[in-house]
Amino acid sequence: MNPREADTLIVGGGIIGLSIAWRLARTGHRVTVLERDTAGAHASRMAAGMLAATAEVGYEEFDLYALCTHAVRRWPSFASELEEDSGIPVDFRSQGTMVVARDADAATALRRAYDFQQEHGFVVEWLSRAEALDREPFLSPRIAAAVYAADDHSVDNRAVIRALVAAIQKFGGHVEEQAEVTAVEMDASGRRHRVRTSQGGAEWTAPQIVLAAGAWSQGIAGLPDDVRPPVRPVKGQILTLRMEPPFRLEHVVRGARAYLVPRSDGRLVVGATSEEMGFNTELTAGGVWSILDGAWELVPGIHDLPVLETDVGLRPGSRDHQPIVGWSAAAGLFMATGHYRHGVILSSATADAAASVLLGGEMPAIMHPFSPSRFRKSA
Ligand SMILES: Cc1cc2nc3c(=O)[nH]c(=O)nc-3n(C[C@H](O)[C@H](O)[C@H](O)COP(=O)(O)OP(=O)(O)OC[C@H]3O[C@@H](n4cnc5c(N)ncnc54)[C@H](O)[C@@H]3O)c2cc1C
Repeated sequence: MNPREADTLIVGGGIIGLSIAWRLARTGHRVTVLERDTAGAHASRMAAGMLAATAEVGYEEFDLYALCTHAVRRWPSFASELEEDSGIPVDFRSQGTMVVARDADAATALRRAYDFQQEHGFVVEWLSRAEALDREPFLSPRIAAAVYAADDHSVDNRAVIRALVAAIQKFGGHVEEQAEVTAVEMDASGRRHRVRTSQGGAEWTAPQIVLAAGAWSQGIAGLPDDVRPPVRPVKGQILTLRMEPPFRLEHVVRGARAYLVPRSDGRLVVGATSEEMGFNTELTAGGVWSILDGAWELVPGIHDLPVLETDVGLRPGSRDHQPIVGWSAAAGLFMATGHYRHGVILSSATADAAASVLLGGEMPAIMHPFSPSRFRKSA
């Protein structure tokens, strides 16, 4: 195959673009991912890897949590198929999540969320302080209560990226790194769209293009103005610590101001801020302080752990904070963006849905509420 001609070109090699490419490539479809930097170098690398449909539930976001629940249920088979295709383990952990209230005020808010979750069929268990400490001994003895969400899992998103690249290549797909898309030219007849890249102006063609450029999706040159998705960057600062014996967390621990996500290799990811700062990616003293202060009041034993890494990522936030998945108004241009704080969870469901449509099938009903058409002025 000439890699410059494809059945589908994907703009952006984050977890969303790569997951779609993998699902397509394993059917024999000719797919090429064009990535400006290295695969998964941005939000998808910085993420904590929580697969948390229950703990992430916002009141009345019924369509979104139906989708998140569906996506989390798909994750065990998604992870095992990916491990089998790539030979790379992705550290899928199913120990569940402890949502912790640090004091009586937080416990009242947690109880409201718990009642709502129970009413809507989520598997949640109310734990007293003693019960919570019994299950997770490094929680602070000062906490008021906790909710155990058995169905909220986690995965090592960096390992997922490596595995996706390997799996795409195994099935003959291409991941072109250092290939910034400098122009998308949609062919009015809808048959042969062109994409130009920074690699000496190299030109790529395909009958369908997927826009999966994360926080940069709105600004890709050449897109017709009326299809530019309303996506903005939402800055997140995040840290990685190293758990040293006897310290050990087994569950994901979440509070109002921070979360802690253990990996099986001993890393502990602690996050995250959420800031409207445009494309600013500076680490700040205030950001690091607020994450550590919020985490420390839940799990004081982090105090002496070594800091391995500090990172800043940009979440692709749509106007309504829900993903944008489906055909745009421009024939042949498919959107897979706006996954905001749920891109790792939703990569499973988005990849399945996008692959179905791009291979000529139906969009699953669960994805209908997330069509780009909801942002059209006439819609
Ligand atoms: C601190 C933090 C913690 C998070 N934690 C979680 C979590 O626990 N669970 C969860 O589900 N989600 C989490 N998220 C959200 C998740 O990371 C994102 O929703 C997800 O990574 C979005 O994936 P993406 O592929 O759309 O974007 P990205 O990973 O940003 O990928 C987009 C890619 O497009 C490329 N690109 C841009 N412009 C061009 C161009 N012109 N040409 C070619 N390529 C281009 C970029 O280089 C980039 O690699 C977190 C995010 C942050 C920042």
